[in-house]
Amino acid sequence: MPPQKRVFYRRRVCRFCTDKELVMDYKDAKVLRNFVTERGKIIPKRIWGTCATHQRQVTEAIKRARHLALLPYTGPTQF
Ligand SMILES: [Zn+2]
Repeated sequence: MPPQKRVFYRRRVCRFCTDKELVMDYKDAKVLRNFVTERGKIIPKRIWGTCATHQRQVTEAIKRARHLALLPYTGPTQF
């Protein structure tokens, strides 16, 4: 059996570009929490692989959510 070389194409594809049902909503803290660490830090796009456009939306949404106190600001507030 020849080795399967292209089993996983781990290209950095933006999650929002691939998943059309994933919509960034600043009111949805559950979704936004995926994009921040437990301490409330935004996960950088080089880790997430989010494209620039969507990373911007994520950042904006998180900022808005913070403003509405849906998400914690950066800091050890949760511990
Ligand atoms: Zn994208």
